[in-house]
Amino acid sequence: MAYEKPRCDCGEELFHFDQVVYSEERGIRRDGKLKAKVLFRGIEGSYSAHGAFLYCNHCRNQYDYDFDEKDRIIRDELRR
Ligand SMILES: [Zn+2]
Repeated sequence: MAYEKPRCDCGEELFHFDQVVYSEERGIRRDGKLKAKVLFRGIEGSYSAHGAFLYCNHCRNQYDYDFDEKDRIIRDELRR
């Protein structure tokens, strides 16, 4: 069966929304400020209080999500 990207009840396509924690390493300039260049950046994971969710940029609905049998993102319940 062909995959269909998750859509909001309003008909718009949903986006995956997450808050991500990451570490980064930067040098220090002679004036004590941080250098702009990032030497290393590592993703630590999600810190969303209730986990990542699907978001509608049009009406701002939020949905939980799940995965189908091929690990593809599918829409779940509307969050209240
Ligand atoms: Zn919507």
